[in-house]
Amino acid sequence: MYDLTNIETIKRLLSGRDFSFSKALGQNFLIDPDVCPEMARLSGLTDADGALEIGPGVGVLTVELAKRAKKVAAAEVDARLLPVLAKTLADCPNVEVLNTDIMKTDLRALCGAQFEGCENVRVCANLPYYITSPVIMLLLECGVKFRTVTLMVQKEAAERVCAQVGGKNCGALTAAVHYYAEAEYLFDVGRESFLPPPNVDSAVIRLTPREAPPVNVADEKTFFRVIKSAFAQRRKTAANSLAAGMGKSKAEILGILKELGIPENARAETFSLETFAAIADKF
Ligand code: SAM
Repeated sequence: MYDLTNIETIKRLLSGRDFSFSKALGQNFLIDPDVCPEMARLSGLTDADGALEIGPGVGVLTVELAKRAKKVAAAEVDARLLPVLAKTLADCPNVEVLNTDIMKTDLRALCGAQFEGCENVRVCANLPYYITSPVIMLLLECGVKFRTVTLMVQKEAAERVCAQVGGKNCGALTAAVHYYAEAEYLFDVGRESFLPPPNVDSAVIRLTPREAPPVNVADEKTFFRVIKSAFAQRRKTAANSLAAGMGKSKAEILGILKELGIPENARAETFSLETFAAIADKF
């Protein structure tokens, strides 16, 4: 067994392999011994569950998931890490490492192939931050019913995702995530907990996908387009942003807002999911 939170151990594992940390791939590896066990615990994994990890790195979180789960599938895009993972996960027969870019992966097919016979599938990952929003949306929209999605993300992203819809810190990602899931802010992780330390602090969040959306919408595509448009120009009123994003005149948008009893100078961060749904249904 390797101590994968020990800097010297990590350096030794990576040395002589022509490996340098890739900023572009968000390669900041966790070295705080408390964080991975806590993430695995809070993901709620049981020995009947499958775990999907995105970006195992040298496997520091993977080994913690392997201790709890029936099966772990870990998707790593960087082929240079595969021989390292073969070493560090040699004692984990329930782990399969897949050399794949998560954004180009059919998650339904992957989960179908990897987690047959598992009671639930849970995602647990220290995300590469350059794809935080697209990965979150992919996980929520891919059609796999994940039981929980526990993610380390940049602190600002965690605050945004877990903000209240209709509150000051709400953005398009907040509204979109809350349509699909309940979001909880679990704990902070400082930049010193990583090798190399990034320029930002981090936090762990947990998404619990809902059984059914909290609002009815006639057309989800339009609903998400309305959300995206309304927040596209944060300094402008929702009417101006919506006119630009939905390709309508401001007069038309003001007509819709008036019909719905929404003040013409309202801003998108004050809207509830019901308001976005009502606006979308007018298109
Ligand atoms: N899980 C490890 C840890 O906690 O120390 C590594 C986390 S590091 C923040 C992100 C990992 O994601 C890196 O191993 C990186 O190579 C991998 N990665 C980056 N982009 C990816 C992608 N598109 N698909 C799969 N893995 C990716």
